[in-house]
Amino acid sequence: MAAAPQVPFDRIHDPVLRRLGEQVAAGNRLTAADGLALYRSADLTGLGVLADAVNRAKNGDVVTFASNQHINPTNICVLRKTCVFCGYARLPKEEGAYRYTLDQVLGEAAHAADGMTREFHIVGGLDMKAGLAYYEEMFRALKANFPHVHIKGLTAVEIAHIARIEKMSWHDVLVALKAAGLDTMPGGGAETFSAAVRDRIADKKLAGAEYIGVHRTAHELGIRTNCTMLYGHVETLEDRMEHLQALRDLQDETGGFLAYIPLAYHPDDNELGKELGRQGTATTGWDDLRQLAVGRLFLDNFQHVKSHWIMVTPFLSQVALHYGVNDLEGTVVREKIYHAVGAHTPQGMSLAALLTLIRGAGKVPAERDSFYRILRTSFDAEPVAAGVA
Ligand code: SF4
Repeated sequence: MAAAPQVPFDRIHDPVLRRLGEQVAAGNRLTAADGLALYRSADLTGLGVLADAVNRAKNGDVVTFASNQHINPTNICVLRKTCVFCGYARLPKEEGAYRYTLDQVLGEAAHAADGMTREFHIVGGLDMKAGLAYYEEMFRALKANFPHVHIKGLTAVEIAHIARIEKMSWHDVLVALKAAGLDTMPGGGAETFSAAVRDRIADKKLAGAEYIGVHRTAHELGIRTNCTMLYGHVETLEDRMEHLQALRDLQDETGGFLAYIPLAYHPDDNELGKELGRQGTATTGWDDLRQLAVGRLFLDNFQHVKSHWIMVTPFLSQVALHYGVNDLEGTVVREKIYHAVGAHTPQGMSLAALLTLIRGAGKVPAERDSFYRILRTSFDAEPVAAGVA
C-alpha cells in the first residue's frame, strides 16, 4: 500500500485544489465532480504539485521506461472512412496501403537481434485479410525467433474485429492468441468513450462499453492490458470524466490495467482536423499536463501513468514527470501511426537521450519489463541483454 501523499499545500494557490488536496492526503476518493473541478482549475502548477505528491507516494522519484519496438503489420482498415481522426489507415487498393508478410514482420523485428529490445508493441488496422491465423502465425514466429521478447499486441478494437470476421467470441480469440504468444495488450482504440463523441469521430468503431468488455475478458484470462484516452478533439471535460470513471470502475473490478496513457489528438492529415480547421494546431502544453495530472489524481487505483513523448514531444514529457507521470514511452524503434497525422517528434529515442531527459528532471531512470518490474537502475556499464538479466 502506498504511503500517504505529502502535499506541500503552500505551493497550491487555488482554494478548490487545496480542498481536494486535503481529501487526497486523507486517502479519500475523488468523485467525478471533483475531477471536473481539477480540470477547471486555472492553477496548473498547483495541480501538478498535487499530482506529483500522489505519484511520489506511489513511485518515489523513479521514472521507468521499456526498451521496445513498434511493429505496425498492416495499415489496411475497414474503418478508413469513418474514423475521421485517423491518418494512418488505407483502403486495400489505396496508394500507400500495405500488409506485411511474415518475412517482412520478422525483418522489422530483426532489430531485436541485438538483445536489447524487450517488447514488441504490435498494432495495426482492421484488415479483412489479417484474421486469427495471420496473427497466430506472426506471434508464434516472433516467439520462435525472439523468445526473450514480450509481445504486447492488438488493441481491443482489433480483437473484436478478428472475433467478428472469424465468427468467434472475444474470449476464444484471446485464448488462441495467448496460446500463440500474446503476453499483454496495448490500450489503443479507446478514443473517448462518450457515445456522442464516438458518433462524431468514429461512429462505426467498437463502442466504449465493448472496449471495456474486451479488456475485462482479457483480464479474466490473465492478460494484463493498458488503457488510453484520446483527448483534445471534440470531447468535453464531462466526456473525459465519464471515460476516466469507466476505467477506474473496471480497475476496481479486475485490477488488470497496468498503466493509463492519455493520447493527444493530432489534427494534421485527417478529416477531422480539416473539418475543425485545426491543422497545425495540436493540443496545448497546458492541456497535455492537466490531462496527465487529472488522470493521476482520479485514477487512484492505477500505479502507472505514462507520457507518450511521440505525441507531446520529449520536452513536455520531461516536464510531465512533475505532473504525476512515472513512466515514459521507451526507445521506440519505428512509429508510423502518429507520424501519419503530423507528429513531428523523432521516430525513436536512444537510451542516452532518455536518460538525459529523466535525469534532467531530477528523477531516477529505471529500465523496466512489460509488467513494470525494475530491471536496472545503473546504466554505467554496458546494458544487460534481454533474457540475460
Ligand atoms: S483509428 Fe484504427 S480502426 Fe480507425 S481507421 Fe485508423 S486504424 Fe482503422
